[in-house]
Amino acid sequence: MLERLKKLIYQTDGKFTEELRLEESGFGLGHLPRRLRPDGVTRAVCGYCSTGCSLDVHIKDGKACNLTPTHAYPVNVGEACPKGWEALSVLNATDRATTPLLRGSDGTLKPVDWPVALKTFAERFKAVQQRHGADSVAYLSTGQITNEEMTLLGILAKFGMGIVHGDGNTRQCMATAATAYKQSFGFDAPPFTYADFEESDCLVFVGANPCIAHPIMWQRVLMNQNNPEIIVLDPRKTETAIAATQHYAVRPKSDLSLLYGVANFLIKNEWIDEDYIERHTNSFEAFSRHVEEFTLDRVSAVCGISETQIAELAALIHRSQRVSFWWMVGVNQGYEATRTAQAIINLALMTGNIGRPGTGANSITGQCNAMGSRLYSNTTNLLGGRMFTDAEHRGEIAEILGIGAERIPAEDSWAYDQIIEGVHEGKIKGLWIVATNPGHSWINRTFFEECMRKLEFLVVQDMYHSTETAQLADLVLPAAGWGEKEGTFINSERRFGLIRAVAEPPGEAKTDFEIFKLIGRAWGCQDITDRWSAPEDMFQTIKEVSRGRPCDITGIADYAMLERCGGIQWPFRPEDDETATERRLFEDGEYYHSDGRAQFMFEAVAPNPEPTCRQYPLVLLTGRGTSSQWHTQTRTGKSKILQKMCPQEVYVEINPRDARDLSIRPGQQVRVVTRRGSVKANAVIKPSVFSGQIFMPMHYPETNLLTLKCFDPYSRQPSYKSCAAKLMTVQTEKAT
Ligand code: SF4
Repeated sequence: MLERLKKLIYQTDGKFTEELRLEESGFGLGHLPRRLRPDGVTRAVCGYCSTGCSLDVHIKDGKACNLTPTHAYPVNVGEACPKGWEALSVLNATDRATTPLLRGSDGTLKPVDWPVALKTFAERFKAVQQRHGADSVAYLSTGQITNEEMTLLGILAKFGMGIVHGDGNTRQCMATAATAYKQSFGFDAPPFTYADFEESDCLVFVGANPCIAHPIMWQRVLMNQNNPEIIVLDPRKTETAIAATQHYAVRPKSDLSLLYGVANFLIKNEWIDEDYIERHTNSFEAFSRHVEEFTLDRVSAVCGISETQIAELAALIHRSQRVSFWWMVGVNQGYEATRTAQAIINLALMTGNIGRPGTGANSITGQCNAMGSRLYSNTTNLLGGRMFTDAEHRGEIAEILGIGAERIPAEDSWAYDQIIEGVHEGKIKGLWIVATNPGHSWINRTFFEECMRKLEFLVVQDMYHSTETAQLADLVLPAAGWGEKEGTFINSERRFGLIRAVAEPPGEAKTDFEIFKLIGRAWGCQDITDRWSAPEDMFQTIKEVSRGRPCDITGIADYAMLERCGGIQWPFRPEDDETATERRLFEDGEYYHSDGRAQFMFEAVAPNPEPTCRQYPLVLLTGRGTSSQWHTQTRTGKSKILQKMCPQEVYVEINPRDARDLSIRPGQQVRVVTRRGSVKANAVIKPSVFSGQIFMPMHYPETNLLTLKCFDPYSRQPSYKSCAAKLMTVQTEKAT
C-alpha cells in the first residue's frame, strides 16, 4: 500500500481524479492532488506570525533546498526575521509524527495504520456522543492552518459530526481585538494597511513589542521618513520602548485608566475632532461624562506616571497630524481587555485619526492565520463573521453549502475556557485538538492537564508527536506542516497570501485538508466533505461565503491572481482595482453598524482579580522572549540556528533593586512562586523590568504552571499578565 501511495504522490500533477485515489482503501487513503512545485522559485507566505512575509523557496532536483525573502512583495520588501529564514529546517525534525499513534492497553502510544486510526476516531467519538449527547464532543482549532482547512474543519465538525462547541487558539491572542472591533465598528475589521507604519507622524504602541514580536513590521516603522514620535505604553522597557522617542512605564494593567485619562484631557482642552465625532460616531456625550473622573492626579496615582507625562502624551497626540495606535497581546491578554482595546479605538475616533493614511486603531494579530480563524473557522462565529443564533445567517450558509439549515447549530459555541471548564465539570467527554499545544500554552496548565485526564477520548492532530498535548492524547493523527501543503492565510492587515507545497509530508502524515476529508468518510458525512477535492475548490466556496459581507473577496479570481498581485487585502470585490497594493478601511467614515456609525464603548475600571500582597508582593508579567522563538517552540525548538539565538532554559527577569533586596545574583537559580505552583528559573537581572515586577517568557513550559486562570468577560481571552508572585532563593526555600 505504501509503495502505491508513494507512486501516486510522485506522479501527482493535479490530474488524478479523487475517486481513483479514494478507492485505494475503505476510507480512501490516497493523497489529494498536491501540486508540487517545479525546479526554480516558489513563493509562499511564512507560516509563523501574522506579518505575512513572502518567502522565495528555491527548488532544485525536486527538493526545497533554501529560501530567501521576496523582494517584490508589499509586506516584507525583501526582509525576513530568523524564524522565516529557518522555516524549511524544522520540517525534517526527528520527532515529526509520521504515522497515527493509538494509546494501547499498556498506556503507551503505538503506531497504527490510517484505517485503524480513522475507524477508532469515528467509533470512539460516536460512542461518547451516544452516551452523553452530541454536545459532549468538542474541538479546539488553531490560527496555524489555512483558511481552506479551517473552513473544512468547521463544516465537518459542526454540520457533519453534530459538534456544537468548538473554538480556536486565537482565543489566546486575538479574541479581544475581534470582540472590541465588533462592538465598536459592527464587524471584526482591523482598519489598517502596513503603509500606515511609514505614513504616520506619531505611532502609539500599547502593550506591543514589535521589535521582537513582529520584527518586519518594525522594519516598516524604521522606513518612516516623517521623523515620527514613537510612543510606547508598557510596564517594561522593552526593545521597542528602548527604540521609542517616549516610553510611558505604566503600572501593569493600569492602561485603561491612563487611556481614559488621556481622553479626558483631550476633551477638556477641546483637542478633539468634533466634526468627525458628530458625523460618524454614537455615544460620545456619555463617554465624555464617563471619563470626567479620570483626572490627571487620579490617573497619575493609579498608573505611576506623572501628571506632566500624561498631559504631554495627550499633547503629542493632539499636535500630530497622522496618529496611528497599535496594540497587541499586552492589551488583549487582560481581565478588562476588551474595554482597554476600545479605549484605544475611542482615542482614534475622537481625534479623527482613522480612515486616513498613517492613522487607525490597529490591532496587530499573532499567528499566521489568526485573522482567517476569526472569519472562517466556523467556531464561535458562523462562516464569514456571521452569527449562529441568526436564522437568516444560517439560511445563507445552508444555501451556499447546499445543506439543510437544520444541520447548522442555532446556538453559540462555548469559548475555549468554557470548553475546558466543561471538561472539568464532566459535560465534555471527547475532545479533538488540531495544530495547537494547550498542554504548554493554556493558562494554569496544571488545571488543563487535570481536565485532559478526565476525558474519555482525546485526539490530537499535529505535525509533531512530542508536544505536551500530543503526549496526553489517546490518538495522534500525523499532519503535514507549512511547506507541505497549499492554501491561504490572512495577515494582520487583512491580506490573503498564498502558501504552496514545496516538500512532501514525512511518512504517512497528511495535510489537515486530507485528514478532514478522510474523517468525513469515516464518520459517514462525506455528502458534505467530499464536495471539495482540493484546497482551491474550497477557496471558491470561501469567496461565496464572503459575498455581500464586509470581508467580501468575490473579486479574487483564484490562487493565480493572489500570486500575481502580491496578496490581496479584504474586502476585494469584482470592481476593485487589483493594482492597488495597500488598502485601508473606513476612508468614507462608514462603519458596519446598521446606522453606519462607530460606537464609543466604555465601562468602569475593574479590580485586579489577584492583586499583590505581603505574601506575593511581585507582579508576574509574561510575553515573548526573542524573535527566534515562536509560542511553545514546537517548531522553532527544532532549528539548531534558532536555538543558538535564545536561552535554552527558562529564566526570570528581575529588577536590580529587587534582586539586591533578595540577595539574588545574575544567573543564580531562583524559585518563582504563585498560588498555582512554583518553578525554578535562572535569574536575569536587568533594569528593563521595574521594581515590583518580574517577567518570564511564554516559550518555556514552566511559565504557565504559574499563571492565573482568569478571563476578560466579553472576549473570554485569558489574562496572562497580571498575577501575584514571589521569588525565593535556594537559601530562603530551605529556611521556609
Ligand atoms: Fe515569518 Fe513573521 Fe518573521 Fe515575517 S516576521 S519572517 S511572517 S515570523
